[in-house]
Amino acid sequence: MADSAFKRILLKLSGEALMGDLEYGTDPERVTQIARQVAAVQARGVEVAIVVGAGNIYRGLAGAAAGMDRATADYMGMLATVLNALALQDALEKLGAHTRVQSAITISEVAEPYIRRRAMRHLEKGRVVIFAAGTGNPFFTTDTAAALRALEIHAEAILMAKNSVEGVYSADPALYPDAEFIERITHMEALERGLKVMDSTALSLCMDNDLPLYVFNMDDERNIDRIVSGERVGTLVST
Ligand code: UDP
Repeated sequence: MADSAFKRILLKLSGEALMGDLEYGTDPERVTQIARQVAAVQARGVEVAIVVGAGNIYRGLAGAAAGMDRATADYMGMLATVLNALALQDALEKLGAHTRVQSAITISEVAEPYIRRRAMRHLEKGRVVIFAAGTGNPFFTTDTAAALRALEIHAEAILMAKNSVEGVYSADPALYPDAEFIERITHMEALERGLKVMDSTALSLCMDNDLPLYVFNMDDERNIDRIVSGERVGTLVST
């Protein structure tokens, strides 16, 4: 097996990544497919932490748009990420990987509380750590949680999984077929151009702390392994 370019990575999985072709919820086949990729990378000695979203189940903004208090709706969104984390944990453990879920909202019957040093110890011991409940704060997103946790645990890069697109484009390729694929870009330029990498709070945090992002297509099962091998895949966002 080729040497790895990274010792520790953080994989950001949006809720949609777990949805497959469904309109809602988690597609067990899709979750298993993702778990296989994670387990393979972990088996080659790379420490893997994961932040999961919940767009496949619930988004706070949708609740707020329907008249709910935004903070309450956001807490619902954070709880929904716990459902995804458990589905992913189950799939990973079925493949023989050792895992821990750590939640930013205390929910001790199903997940450990988030304790940074303990998370790092789990990683050192070869466990996949899944961070649930985002940052634990309303008005944030799981993209920000990914940036924050990656910095806290000293991950060398964030791998941002996308569905059906190869990386970052000059415009949304679903709406603009002429949109140009961008192989490499700085955080600042992505922010200035308002490109769909991650939300601006999260992207600023990565920029301020020189944290590179690899934006890639999750549909190709070889991609995570390729990035970890140092191959150029998707879009690299770096300073
Ligand atoms: N959320 C939050 N604070 C956080 C992370 C998430 O309030 O730190 C809520 C927010 O309502 C969000 C929902 O959880 O809409 C699901 O997360 P996100 O939209 O980031 O999921 P993704 O788009 O990655 O599937």
